[in-house]
Amino acid sequence: MSDTPMGAIPFFDGHCDTVSRCAHIGWSLREAQGQLDLVRLSRFKKAAQVFAIFADAAKFPAGALFDECRKQHDTFGRELSENAGLAVRCRTGADIAGAHAAGKVAALLSIEGAELLDCDPEKLETAAAWGVRLINITWNHVNALSGTNVEATDKGLTDRGRVFVREAYARGILPDVSHLSDAGFWDVAEMGLGPIVASHSNARAVCGHPRNLTDDMFRAVRDSGGAVGLNMYEDFIGGAHTLSDAVRHVDHFMALDGEKTLALGGDWDGCELAFGWRGVQDLPALWDALADRGYDRGTLEDIFFNNWLRVLG
Ligand SMILES: [Zn+2]
Repeated sequence: MSDTPMGAIPFFDGHCDTVSRCAHIGWSLREAQGQLDLVRLSRFKKAAQVFAIFADAAKFPAGALFDECRKQHDTFGRELSENAGLAVRCRTGADIAGAHAAGKVAALLSIEGAELLDCDPEKLETAAAWGVRLINITWNHVNALSGTNVEATDKGLTDRGRVFVREAYARGILPDVSHLSDAGFWDVAEMGLGPIVASHSNARAVCGHPRNLTDDMFRAVRDSGGAVGLNMYEDFIGGAHTLSDAVRHVDHFMALDGEKTLALGGDWDGCELAFGWRGVQDLPALWDALADRGYDRGTLEDIFFNNWLRVLG
């Protein structure tokens, strides 16, 4: 085993739920007790993180979700302005390059569940103005756009769902199919409007959880020019939750020609991490496990950084 320091590893991750923790239980994005914060991210060679606005619709009264979305967007903005020495809010590849040239963490925004925009295509304009780059069509609960992996699993995109996906692409916001029903996935894929992302999903052939992607789904994401973020949640890693189980997911995606598709999507602060990990500070162990498996530095840099940059840059 080598022992690569965080400072030698580039990091670009597609999904964390840390902002909702900041908004609800008062964590500071600078130094939080969870799985990720700006101080820890800043230890990587260069770091970019997509921060999700997330809320469980079942815990909010009808009509309150867009206010919650705005509240978390305010939290994101306030945390970043209070930590301007550490991180920069980014939307474009040029923003990300600028953040890294200044030695700062690049912070991007996503929304996990279109119900946070009331499933209203017109509210995508607000999201685009905020710089949102990804939106999950659903979280776990069925909404006006589609069924999900756990509710109304046979239901694909509704007519409104198709309008929403079309409008999202038109505004530079990519549909994120993690949590979406399989039927909804194929409806998005068949629209063929641009890159599809699965920001935090693994390989169903390795761990048979419906939150993971079938091989055909992975190929469809690959062929769309999108990306798939490797999720560190123990239930989606499967097996004995060891690093060799994570390596099996990577091996599987690589056998599907996923070198330019597989990326990171740790689900930080949204899950119980596998491997006994505490947070992003433990990621060098995955880098080393993959290096020991024989992956070269170029491939690792693609997985750990370049593939998200290509899609979101
Ligand atoms: Zn999620």
